[in-house]
Amino acid sequence: MKQNIEFCTCTQTKCRWHPKNHTDGCTPCIQKNLKNGEIPSCFFNLTGKANQRKGDTIEDFAKLVLEK
Ligand code: SF4
Repeated sequence: MKQNIEFCTCTQTKCRWHPKNHTDGCTPCIQKNLKNGEIPSCFFNLTGKANQRKGDTIEDFAKLVLEK
């Protein structure tokens, strides 16, 4: 089943989990992030400071939100 993922703002299009590279929508990305205790790029992009992040962890995300 092809999923509509045009809302994805992740720019890492070479990532094997990016929706452009399969037909499973957000599922592989979310699975990877949950397994690693990380936050997907689309949420980092909402902070407007994604380019300042130190990593992809929940703590890295929380720091950017608090700085916003
Ligand atoms: S969860 Fe992952 S695949 Fe889905 S929109 Fe966010 S970054 Fe893109």
